[in-house]
Amino acid sequence: MHELAVTQSMLNLALEYAERASAQRITRINLVVGEIAGIVDESVQFYFDFISQGTPAEGALLSFRKLPARFRCTACGQEFPLRDGDWTCPACQRLGGEVISGREFYMESIEVE
Ligand SMILES: [Zn+2]
Repeated sequence: MHELAVTQSMLNLALEYAERASAQRITRINLVVGEIAGIVDESVQFYFDFISQGTPAEGALLSFRKLPARFRCTACGQEFPLRDGDWTCPACQRLGGEVISGREFYMESIEVE
């Protein structure tokens, strides 16, 4: 259900852009998805195919660019990537930290005709 809401707002935004550009059709939507955003590509595609029916975005290709997750250790300040789901700081072995990136979900660009 989470994906339905984000897909709906993504579609609304894309349609708004297309209208402003006086485009007839949206052919491609380039999306950026963080590794830990909790967004499943297939679900977004599934909902998109359904809710875009009858709009200028119907049949548009969705492209997903994955953004890796990165953390900053709250104890020692070390920045580190998520490795195999492990959130342990490689410098001080403390578990967890602050998320620097990886929760993103946004539209990078759209292609219209
Ligand atoms: Zn640390």
